[in-house]
Amino acid sequence: MKRCRWVDETSELYIRYHDTEWGVPSYDDHYLFEMLLLESFQAGLSWITILKKREAFREAFDDFDVVKVSQYDETKISALMKNKDIIRNQLKIRAAVNNAKIFIQIQQEFDRFSNYIWSFTNGKIIYNENDELPATSPLSDTISVDLKQRGMKFVGSTIIYSYLQAIGIINDHETTCDFYKKN
Ligand SMILES: [Zn+2]
Repeated sequence: MKRCRWVDETSELYIRYHDTEWGVPSYDDHYLFEMLLLESFQAGLSWITILKKREAFREAFDDFDVVKVSQYDETKISALMKNKDIIRNQLKIRAAVNNAKIFIQIQQEFDRFSNYIWSFTNGKIIYNENDELPATSPLSDTISVDLKQRGMKFVGSTIIYSYLQAIGIINDHETTCDFYKKN
């Protein structure tokens, strides 16, 4: 099995993520919120750090229920700040609550968040054509600006590029990877 070069083949978690999730197109708002929350916590950290904490995040953030997260109060935020199993960054925790509120507003405007996020490519998947993967692109710039204008935090272009890869709008499997253009 040939995989993208960034995959640490000693990590079952990383292999499973690469093989079954990364680059698979998602239209499921629950998953789209989960990944947006996780990516916003990744800022400045490695993705494997987040993947290892993913189940702790799931438990701490009510299974990534966007409505519940949007209603977190100061008591809940304090409890999250004491949770050693997640990333205890107050700005990121507050951003998650704030972003949940905006996510719901987008759902109300577009019926589903999926409709909103896929509208930027008219539903098309962007495929990697060469193996020099960028950190950002004009597409991630555009979406980042739009989300920031709507009031989201920790949604810089690099985070959004990574998010678009995760949810399959950008499919960046390398040309030598067995998963290249499989979706
Ligand atoms: Zn790959």
